[in-house]
Amino acid sequence: MPGSAGPDLIYRLLRKRFGFLNWWPGETRDEILIGAILTQQTSWRNVEKAISSLRDANALSVKAISSMRVGVLEKLIRSSGFYRQKARRLKKLCSHIISEYGSLGRFLSMDMDRLRSELLAMDGIGQETADAIALYAAGKPSFVIDAYTIRAMERISGNGKRFGYGDLQKYFMERLPLDVELYKDMHAQFVELGKRYCLKTKPLCNECPLAGICAYGKG
Ligand code: SF4
Repeated sequence: MPGSAGPDLIYRLLRKRFGFLNWWPGETRDEILIGAILTQQTSWRNVEKAISSLRDANALSVKAISSMRVGVLEKLIRSSGFYRQKARRLKKLCSHIISEYGSLGRFLSMDMDRLRSELLAMDGIGQETADAIALYAAGKPSFVIDAYTIRAMERISGNGKRFGYGDLQKYFMERLPLDVELYKDMHAQFVELGKRYCLKTKPLCNECPLAGICAYGKG
């Protein structure tokens, strides 16, 4: 794990450059949960079109999707890519929530560990999606790790080590206060870093706010 460059310092430097971000597109908890499934393996622009179609059809809710035919759902979310697979996943998740808990509110009110394990037990929901739902829809302090975070942290560390999801999540959660707003913002900061500077092939280290503490950037 990165030596002197702890999460505090990383966050301070990113925040100074990007300001407070704390985003997740979505006006309601239903929309956040649905968006978290739709965004798998695609860009947010494609998700927006699917969200819009669901909204126009008055179907942007867990309850509506739970009672919708999969074929109809497929048509509405077609723009999100892998739409057949996503329609099945979404339908299964929404039906489970309504049949077992009666409402999304009750489902999300479970304690964090139970919520996370229920989500992970569902078809096609991995750790990143489960944590995004727990953090942004349920407001639980579950740190989200994504490809941007892993790439940046491996470069900052520079020891040639590869980080797994669980190790990196533990690293952040052991060193940061259990603060939902901080976790939301920090995830957003890593996404911004990955999109603007820590690019996959040619990172723009000269302009990066982390250049001074990053082994790759200094190298
Ligand atoms: S200095 Fe370069 S490698 Fe390090 S985080 Fe910034 S862009 Fe990525």
